[in-house]
Amino acid sequence: MEQIDIMSLVRDNIRSLEPYSTARDEYRGELGILLDANENPFGEGLNRYPARALRARLLGRIAALKGFPPEQVFLGNGSDESIDLCYRIFCRPGVDNAVAIAPSYGMYRVCADINGVGYRAVALRADFSLPVEELLAAADARTRLLFVCSPNNPTGNAFPEADIRALLEGFGGILVLDEAYADFAEQGSLSRLLAEYPRLVVLQTLSKAWGMAGLRIGITLADPRIIALMDRVRYPYNIGTDTLALADRLLDPSRTSEEIACLKEQRKMLADKLKGFSCILRVFPSDANFLLVQTADPKGLYRHLLADGIIVRDRSATAGCGPALRLTVGTAEENEKLLQSLQAYERKA
Ligand code: PMP
Repeated sequence: MEQIDIMSLVRDNIRSLEPYSTARDEYRGELGILLDANENPFGEGLNRYPARALRARLLGRIAALKGFPPEQVFLGNGSDESIDLCYRIFCRPGVDNAVAIAPSYGMYRVCADINGVGYRAVALRADFSLPVEELLAAADARTRLLFVCSPNNPTGNAFPEADIRALLEGFGGILVLDEAYADFAEQGSLSRLLAEYPRLVVLQTLSKAWGMAGLRIGITLADPRIIALMDRVRYPYNIGTDTLALADRLLDPSRTSEEIACLKEQRKMLADKLKGFSCILRVFPSDANFLLVQTADPKGLYRHLLADGIIVRDRSATAGCGPALRLTVGTAEENEKLLQSLQAYERKA
């Protein structure tokens, strides 16, 4: 286990923060007559602020599924909340900076901008592999965060464990490894590296493979000290009662693994068929639930699909992607409609 003091990377005001505390946090007995939180007493549950036990129950189940103790798990309002919290906890506005790969998920930069933190984007190599040396060279004494998304959005590829280890060895700040799509990757999650590297923060989510994007629940796996900081800085009730209850009800590992298997099969089918279209110049390999494809006229193809009621993501303006569209893998029927629409596009050309 390495010996870097995580707390030395934390902003002074956050380290000394006296967090908001509710009377119910302080009262450990059975809940009785609730006259502490200025709620309306009439109602069947939603008149009350979310119960601590409901959050603890969902957190406990997710922790068990992920193979970590609850002290190493944080639940946020999507992993977007955790991205923002990382900036708020570790980066002094106007002073510190973050390094990230490019192209990648847009919220890393948006949250840097919101928090007044410098953002240094380092281009992936042409084959989308990780430029380990360049990333380390872009970091300086004021680089508190390094964002790596694996499998990466929008390129779709996962990075090898050896590269992530090299970054953890060479970088002295917090490495945020965004694994939103890791459930679709052959190599799975690298969260086991947390046992060796306490400066690693792994972001996962219920929004992708778990099929709960509408609920907004993100999962962070990290050292217990980082989790404790996130819990101190988050809004007191960042996840509502209904959301917690629904997630508890919908969390079904066997259904999720069936869906992942189906989506991986569909991904392969779609990739193979897309390669047969002359309008598709390139289909990048994917470890995620989407495919990045290059086409001669991405805007034209985008408009054609839209006219057929099929919405995809135009990534042609994103540096490093080339003339690319990003296609999410849908159901077999949806994917078939996509292929039919592409056939019509080719006939038109
Ligand atoms: N990370 C990546 C790489 C994503 O693509 C997304 C959403 N598209 C998120 C995080 C945000 O996930 P959540 O819904 O958990 O906020």
